[in-house]
Amino acid sequence: MDTCVFCKVVDREAPASVIYDDEATLAFMDLRQPTWPEGVHALVVPKQHVEQVDELEPELAGLLMATVVKVARSVRRCFAPDGMSIWSSNGPAAFQEVPHVHMHVLTRTHEDGLLRVYAERPPHPPTVDLDEVAATIRTDLA
Ligand SMILES: [Zn+2]
Repeated sequence: MDTCVFCKVVDREAPASVIYDDEATLAFMDLRQPTWPEGVHALVVPKQHVEQVDELEPELAGLLMATVVKVARSVRRCFAPDGMSIWSSNGPAAFQEVPHVHMHVLTRTHEDGLLRVYAERPPHPPTVDLDEVAATIRTDLA
């Protein structure tokens, strides 16, 4: 996709501060650094243009996650953060801004005031309902 900014980064047609580069994946610094300068916000992408996580081939998904782990280990060694948020936003409702799979690696501190996944304590549905939904997905996976 020639308009995709992450494909341009992969092709080195757009600038990026590259962290890691192998055959299948690329890691680079996000332009937005909410924990700067103590912390780090990195992105890890597959070199192949794939829009969302559920469209990844399993092998590429594995390679992507291996790079995420590699980068996270290095970030831990270099910055010793209190924690790390590692996530991927998929689709407009999840505020995915670039339609090319990317995993965020963001260092966290106890008082950084950044996103909590749950703004409020979420409901705990009855186990019978959880079992029913699990069965629906399990059946689909079979
Ligand atoms: Zn792309």
